[in-house]
Amino acid sequence: MSRELKEVHGIIFRSRHYQEADLLAKMLTRELGIVSLIVKGALRPKSKLAGAATNFSRGCFILATSGHGLANLRTYKQVAVMDHLYHDIQVNAYASYILDLVDHAFLEYQPLANYYDLTIWALTQLDRGTDPEIITQIMQLKLLAAYGVAPELSHCVLCQQRQGPFDYSIKYGGILCPKHQPSDSGRMHLPPQATAVLRTMGLIPTNRLGKVAISPGLKQTTRHAIDRIYLATVDLNLKTKKFLDELRLLQG
Ligand SMILES: [Zn+2]
Repeated sequence: MSRELKEVHGIIFRSRHYQEADLLAKMLTRELGIVSLIVKGALRPKSKLAGAATNFSRGCFILATSGHGLANLRTYKQVAVMDHLYHDIQVNAYASYILDLVDHAFLEYQPLANYYDLTIWALTQLDRGTDPEIITQIMQLKLLAAYGVAPELSHCVLCQQRQGPFDYSIKYGGILCPKHQPSDSGRMHLPPQATAVLRTMGLIPTNRLGKVAISPGLKQTTRHAIDRIYLATVDLNLKTKKFLDELRLLQG
């Protein structure tokens, strides 16, 4: 397939030096999914592409692509950096982890379906200063389906019970009602309140999500629960996650 010019909407991430004055970056696009691209001469003084090739630059870009492999950034129309993501080290770490999670769930050029809008929603929320911990946990829960291990959160995995209290079972991949909790002695033994928060974060449509206020202790419980689910079912070992965990420790 020959190279074609494509107009895409999306956001640049993992932009880094490649060779000579070129950058190598990834882009999450609505039209083509995730694309790796080279930005020729971006590091030269007066390069018109430099600003557009920065991490968290979002807008409309023109790529030369053959539909697989590396694309080239040719030019751009309206592009603006998501400032808060770019400048705030903590928010930056959360955003980088979310993008890394999406990046690992999809092959390049694989359609992202609703995950494109979901990711842009999450990054926009982070940029606006919404609690990054909650946004990240929501993304972690929703992305489990993209990894092929969607958790059953709407009712007990072993019956149709929708009324709690519930506990979470990694073995069964979902919530268990009190009657079925003895079926998995290794279940998480979460406080019912924590399972309720997991259900809310995993099930609620993001456009109906108002201000979610969760106590720091409960947020930590749900974070550890989600991390355990990832470890047991996806096992990614991402550098961005390690960095985020280290940053949290430093900040107490
Ligand atoms: Zn049940």
